[in-house]
Amino acid sequence: MSANPYASVSTIRGVGPKLEQSLAKLGIFRLIDLLLHLPYRYQDRTQLTPLTDVRAEETHLIEGEIKDCRVVFGNRRSLKVTVKDGTGTVYLRFFHFSRYQQKALQEAQSIRAFGEFRFFGRELSCAHPEYETFDHPPNDVTPELVPIYPTTQGLGQARLRKILSELCQQAWPEGSPFEHLVYLHTPPPEATEATIASARETLAIEELTAYYLVMKGRALARQSTAAIPLPRSVALGRVLLDQLGFKLTQAQARVVGEVLSDLEKPTPMLRLVQGDVGSGKTVVAAFAAIRAAEQNCQTAVMAPTELLAEQHYLNFVQWLTPLGIECVLLTGSQSAKEQKPRLKAVADGDALVVIGTHALFQDRVSFKQLGLSIIDEQHRFGVHQRMALQLKGGTQPHQLIMTATPIPRTLTMALYADMAVSVIDELPKGRQPITTHTVVEDRSADVITQLRQAVARGQQAYWVCVLIEDSDEIDAKSATSRYQDLLQELKGVRIALLHGRMSGDEKAEVMNRFKAGDLDLLVATTVIEVGVDVPNATHMVIENAERLGLAQLHQLRGRIGRGNLASHCFLLFTQRLSEAAKTRLSALRDSQDGFYLAEQDLKLRGPGDILGTRQSGEQSFRIADLSEHAHLIPRAVSLGDEMMGSAERAQEMRQILETWAPADSGNLTV
Ligand code: ADP
Ligand code: MG
Repeated sequence: MSANPYASVSTIRGVGPKLEQSLAKLGIFRLIDLLLHLPYRYQDRTQLTPLTDVRAEETHLIEGEIKDCRVVFGNRRSLKVTVKDGTGTVYLRFFHFSRYQQKALQEAQSIRAFGEFRFFGRELSCAHPEYETFDHPPNDVTPELVPIYPTTQGLGQARLRKILSELCQQAWPEGSPFEHLVYLHTPPPEATEATIASARETLAIEELTAYYLVMKGRALARQSTAAIPLPRSVALGRVLLDQLGFKLTQAQARVVGEVLSDLEKPTPMLRLVQGDVGSGKTVVAAFAAIRAAEQNCQTAVMAPTELLAEQHYLNFVQWLTPLGIECVLLTGSQSAKEQKPRLKAVADGDALVVIGTHALFQDRVSFKQLGLSIIDEQHRFGVHQRMALQLKGGTQPHQLIMTATPIPRTLTMALYADMAVSVIDELPKGRQPITTHTVVEDRSADVITQLRQAVARGQQAYWVCVLIEDSDEIDAKSATSRYQDLLQELKGVRIALLHGRMSGDEKAEVMNRFKAGDLDLLVATTVIEVGVDVPNATHMVIENAERLGLAQLHQLRGRIGRGNLASHCFLLFTQRLSEAAKTRLSALRDSQDGFYLAEQDLKLRGPGDILGTRQSGEQSFRIADLSEHAHLIPRAVSLGDEMMGSAERAQEMRQILETWAPADSGNLTV
């Protein structure tokens, strides 16, 4: 009989409520979760260090005779053990020790100990080593790779190691994943980096397969829920098309077509529109909102920042008001008095398009008839937030999600398997390429000269800093201090400061002046990253560019090159540049292709930036590491498809889901 991997950890002998709590903090509830808690590295304890070779700040396995063991009173009371071999002397110290421990150490002949050494005064010592005592000279060291685990308060390394090594001695069901899990917790001495990596890979494929199955399960579940179908009718979209003042690119037209045909269905749409910065996603959203309005259904447009919400509002008003569609803007900086009539218009159904930040929608907006929700810059929203909006209406609204972060196709396959994906892979005609320069910070005077010249020609510019104010911890120039400097250096140039700590009103005021051309230079933090659209802005300086990820730099740079004038982006960096930062900056200098840059970012930094997990903290895998395992995704996807397509593999599929995604395993039936 094999052990039940899904039993609670409380079934382990010696695991009481307290330890259970500590384990829960690590996301460990069942035995299988414990087994999935893999070491993040191993220590090689195969080599004994002669005592004369022990060095401070290094970890060693040592052995020798116990020459002395006594309690000493220095700054702190401690038990001090003197150990000698033929070559030298070291000391072991215990600041907490039991009488029993003291006695055992005093009686033992020799000791083998493992730990990090450092100087206590002039004595090379190890505090609280792991050790084993002997009353005879010890046998040869058994070689072993000792696993090192992520731990948490109340749960030490040694305890975790003991629990897991005992767990691994039990009989588990045959095959994957248990065989690999046991291998990784208790690798044989001949294990190598390669064999360990390969066991992890096998598990990563399983995990990715499970994730893919979960996403597919959600898509299936959605097929059986109802949405309000939004068929073609009075064709207000045609009217907008004629009034736009520009012609849709082929890519925009195709994506609008895909969205509108989804909306006609009686099941909720969930479509992700990816399009590089400036590719014109907003107008695609407007066509979808018009379709909803034609059926008297409301649309919620959620933006990640107030600035962006305001900008969307201006666009929607310009496009939709002539069609008789009422739009309202809701922001956190509006007073309760300002919000009240707007909220009422939303509740009564008079306002057909409601634009705001997502925080606002979560809290207090209730709709008469929500037919469509549009989420801009999706990578900033977590899955939970998306779901929260969904639950508001009686039927499910259609969802359109727009992101400017190009997500490599391999990632979309699995991570967004619950959505349909459209790509706007074309920029409107007449856009000028952006020339990107990497400039060491000492040469910033040259850059300032170029800005002065651009402003003299009537063009505008951004200067982006990573900090609002100077900081002790982060060595970077702040927007506030840069602003002060530029006021001195660029006399006569109209400069303003924009950052996230300003109120919504202040920000909007500055932004509007910049848009109207009443300001020449905007010194800003990365708040301008998303959405800001000023075609006359042709120059951008990004200071301490080495501190930002590729995806973010690409986003920022997308604020320029929006009109028909040549644009320049200057990436200012400090002298001390890591190799990775160098690679990042030159990738950005050499390419403007968002998809290419996303692939590079994935290789350089992992998927955190791309998927926004850094912000949301969601969607992290237990074992799969997408910077290392992304190439396994196609295999995971085809495995998942095979399982869903075959009744014989139903059991296997259930097991995979139960192992990796217990909460979701109910969603899928073959
Ligand atoms: P993003 O995809 O970054 O959200 P926007 O929707 O903000 O891009 O569009 C950027 C700018 O391009 C806006 O000023 C918009 O009006 C304009 N635009 C959108 N589509 C076209 C087009 N087909 N031709 C010309 N300009 C367009
Ligand atoms: Mg946009």
